[in-house]
Amino acid sequence: MPRLEAFQGDITQQAVDAIVNAANTTLLGGGGVDGAIHRAAGPELLEECRQIGGCPTGEARITRGYRLPARYVIHTVGPVWSGGGRGEPELLRGCYENALRLARGHGVASVAFPSISTGAYRYPIEQAASVAVEAVRRELREPGPVELVRFVCFSAGDLQVYRRLLGA
Ligand code: ADP
Repeated sequence: MPRLEAFQGDITQQAVDAIVNAANTTLLGGGGVDGAIHRAAGPELLEECRQIGGCPTGEARITRGYRLPARYVIHTVGPVWSGGGRGEPELLRGCYENALRLARGHGVASVAFPSISTGAYRYPIEQAASVAVEAVRRELREPGPVELVRFVCFSAGDLQVYRRLLGA
């Protein structure tokens, strides 16, 4: 079983094979972690995203990492929280599963995730983190190249939630 860990910090600085971006459906950049990743990667990232032409909620797309330490950026679009009865958990699970499938297909050994949907999209952190950890554990039951999944938390509060779920 690959290692799952939680870490507090800035995802743009993670020296892993791939970082995941909590993007929006246009893939043309935005605020929060998306803006930080585009600023750190440089304008070539936006150019590649423009050529992809968007991504539906729950799916994922992969690009190069340009000026980031990470070789790849996996862009996924989390659901906007609207109470939980509009398929939000399934869509969020899809983000983690589809991102890991892309990682696997590109021989990625280490991948860092932000807390998808819990910023501007207002998904409650406890519920989102539980979906995240469960989806990653399930997806990594099948053997593959991924050896490390790091959940990068921006706040100490988020880190506590992840630590508890990971049993650390
Ligand atoms: P969403 O629109 O999917 O909710 P946001 O970017 O608004 O995405 O927020 C997702 C999470 O990413 C939030 O917990 C936010 O605090 C966090 N975040 C923002 N910037 C960074 C960063 N540089 N590194 C890691 N996490 C970040």
